[in-house]
Amino acid sequence: MSEKSKNDEVDFSFKCPSCKKGKIRIHKTTYDVPDGDKMLFIKFECNICNFSNNDVIPLTANSTPGIMTLRVSNENDLKSKIYRSPNGKLEIPELELFVVPGPNADFYYTNVEGILYRFENAVLIYRKNLEKDDVQEEEIDKILHDLHKAIKGEFEFTLIITDTGGGSYIIPEDESKYSFQKFEQKELNLK
Ligand SMILES: [Zn+2]
Repeated sequence: MSEKSKNDEVDFSFKCPSCKKGKIRIHKTTYDVPDGDKMLFIKFECNICNFSNNDVIPLTANSTPGIMTLRVSNENDLKSKIYRSPNGKLEIPELELFVVPGPNADFYYTNVEGILYRFENAVLIYRKNLEKDDVQEEEIDKILHDLHKAIKGEFEFTLIITDTGGGSYIIPEDESKYSFQKFEQKELNLK
């Protein structure tokens, strides 16, 4: 993230969830990132106790279509932020997880852990609706087993977002595990 920041704003609004006495100070800062995008950095701070929290939200769409790849191998990587635009296809091949773009696909902004929990929910519902002795049962139980390990940071996997229109983001906790591969114009024409 660049040093350039502007639009610093501070306001007080809600009561502290930790001490219940203080007021939460919300500090908003807009950062210009080197590729021309803007990110909103929000810091929540209590004026009495030491409660604080922060979040980063992309403000402008990343317009470069490409493939974003994040290697997840520990608990820290699970905190990496993920923002999938409706153009983005999200997949975790090792867990047979695929989220395809479509008019009904929602935008979402979460972290890797959030994606795993959503997926676990969907798989559990699917498993419940299987007929007794369905051949898929064994395969699904294997996925659930790996998924539980993944949620604890004990299963290594790759999260890939393929975005032909741009707009998706991965904000890695560990930069060294992230890579971005830009699409060439002729590759885009084929899609
Ligand atoms: Zn407090």
